[in-house]
Amino acid sequence: MLRFAPSPTGDMHIGNLRVALFNHILSKQLKEDLIIRIEDTDKERNIEGKDKEILEMLSLFNIEYKIAHYQSDNLKYHQKMAMQLLMQKKAFACFCSDERLEMQRENAKDSGKPYRYDSFCEKLTDDEVINNESGFTIRIKKPEHNIKCTDELRGEFDYNPFDVDSFIIMRKDKTPTYNFACAVDDMLYDISLVIRGEDHLSNTPKQKHIRESLGYTKEIKYLHLPIILNAQTGKKMSKRDNASSVKWLIEEGFLPIAIANYLVLLGSKTPKEIFTIEEAIEWFDIKNISTNAPKFDIDKLRFINKEHLKIIDEMRLSKILGFADEDIGKLAKIYLEEASTIKEIKTKLDAIFGTKHTSEDYVSEVEHIKKCAQNAPFFDSYDDFKNYISTQCGLKGKSLFMPLRFCLTGAWHGPNLSDIYPYIKNYLGEIIK
Ligand code: GLU
Repeated sequence: MLRFAPSPTGDMHIGNLRVALFNHILSKQLKEDLIIRIEDTDKERNIEGKDKEILEMLSLFNIEYKIAHYQSDNLKYHQKMAMQLLMQKKAFACFCSDERLEMQRENAKDSGKPYRYDSFCEKLTDDEVINNESGFTIRIKKPEHNIKCTDELRGEFDYNPFDVDSFIIMRKDKTPTYNFACAVDDMLYDISLVIRGEDHLSNTPKQKHIRESLGYTKEIKYLHLPIILNAQTGKKMSKRDNASSVKWLIEEGFLPIAIANYLVLLGSKTPKEIFTIEEAIEWFDIKNISTNAPKFDIDKLRFINKEHLKIIDEMRLSKILGFADEDIGKLAKIYLEEASTIKEIKTKLDAIFGTKHTSEDYVSEVEHIKKCAQNAPFFDSYDDFKNYISTQCGLKGKSLFMPLRFCLTGAWHGPNLSDIYPYIKNYLGEIIK
């Protein structure tokens, strides 16, 4: 069983979508189910509605899963397991105040050492614990031996007990921390492979230690994907980078199929450049992903988007553009000379179907052609149409072609009118206005 575990704390990030896509591909390749776990235990960071948005995104990208569940529904199991660790003395109640912990953090910082909990409350006697009426967190005791973890891309890591530390597994309000809820849920749902972002690499030994303490011996495999960098700053694509939001990319007119193609291609070796996820399932080898952080390149995404637009079914393209006519799909494809996204094609179509006014160039010619074309019979061929307008208006050369182009497309430059005409000839009544 595989899982994708998004937090409903913001717009879906491209890094998260990449994690979801690889989970989907691997679940198909391994013929194991994929489940979705909405990690909603950090109430303060949750944003209402983001859970639904994430699920909608997954269906937009055709990511199939067996169930989607909310982590907070498992609270009773998290509490039970924490109790078990307390009873077995593998965890302890910690009464340390935030101020005390903050002071220790400051001291560690001042002396240039990494902060670790000083185990103060681990030494409390049962009597001292029972008679203490203040609220407490629960900390798991640090391991007695090194924790070895293998990352499928990077190999083995060895963490000593000091690095794992005696960390908090339950907050004062008796809700689980991320590491505890995650480790327990991966165990409860019999997860065999975890694919997630590299930012979670250091959580892996903690989660392994939690499960070992609970007596769970099944080995879970881990694969951490490198984070995606902003090409300009060389830093992680943050929320401030528009292109980090999948929603923004969709609104900008990138096709889900192209975004998915780009994210799978990014930083990995693939036998071809333009593909669908269904194709990738046939040949993709996750071991070919480089451990170097890839740079996000929007121009490359534009190129991939255009390639997918070239091969998309014309009727489908027309529907995406808000029409239901194959001819509009064909017209849109002609505009791929100039446009790379749905948004850019829409701008071209809006100019074609919008009201056309000019106050500078060819003002009288435009008005003349408009009147003439409005009263013209239907012409199947562009040459016949053009010749009719030329004769009726007495216009030739540039004085004919420039205003005629403007009347038909709302622009002064663009693809050949003879290429466009076959797809707009049935709409002239709407266009020439
Ligand atoms: N909820 C975590 C995140 O969105 C993922 C944790 C995990 O996959 O283990 O980064």
